[in-house]
Amino acid sequence: MTVTKIIDQARSEKRTVLTEIEAKQILLEAGIGCTKTKLASTKEQAVSLCEEFGYPVVLKISSVDITHKSDAGGVKVNLKDKTEMEAAFDEIMTSCRAKFPDANIEGISVQKMAKPGIEVIIGMTKDPSFGPVLMFGLGGVFVEVLKDVAFRIVPLEKVDASEMIEEIKGKKLLEGYRGQDPADIPCLEEMLLKLSAFIDGTPGIQEIDMNPVFAYKEGAVVVDARIILEKA
Ligand code: ADP
Ligand code: MG
Repeated sequence: MTVTKIIDQARSEKRTVLTEIEAKQILLEAGIGCTKTKLASTKEQAVSLCEEFGYPVVLKISSVDITHKSDAGGVKVNLKDKTEMEAAFDEIMTSCRAKFPDANIEGISVQKMAKPGIEVIIGMTKDPSFGPVLMFGLGGVFVEVLKDVAFRIVPLEKVDASEMIEEIKGKKLLEGYRGQDPADIPCLEEMLLKLSAFIDGTPGIQEIDMNPVFAYKEGAVVVDARIILEKA
């Protein structure tokens, strides 16, 4: 229900890019856990959302015209109280307006600060010959520099999900490296399967990027998400 509504809304605005807030709403609907995220159009709204969520919080620019939020100075994490949060709100606005003077800024998204975990990425792209393909990998330098990722064609079987996680070179990092907690691999497999089922049942989506997902000893949570629709 929510999914169709969000997609229709974007279509009516002739948009193919969904905001992080919309993307997370869709993923939640697909059964994939995301950090609590809501839009604040004003600083006053941000203050009351932070009171609702509890500190520490994360603020991020919300604009379909700004893809790489950190590069624009549009992400401030671990804000511990109202003073820090209000200062961050202004800094984000100033930096993003300077770097993207033409961007249509919807507001600032207020999020619960997720506790640190092992960073992984999960994505979907549509291949012209194979159709939707899922990707799994370790986040950060592992994907950017080492291209340590695994791919499978949708729909995934249970065995595909476990093989994808099994075959990345950095697998050991998920098993608890040097005293670090291991990642909840069954939960990551479940996320892959849920994403596959969702894509299989939802036409019109071109691309999904969950980067990063924080994986914990128990559970995992999507911290940043991006969805692009197919051209109408
Ligand atoms: P970008 O558009 O630059 O990819 P992200 O939303 O991924 O922006 O934020 C950049 C980084 O900030 C993330 O990789 C993550 O490490 C951290 N981060 C973002 N949101 C949260 C959150 N809710 N809780 C904890 N850390 C976060
Ligand atoms: Mg990101």
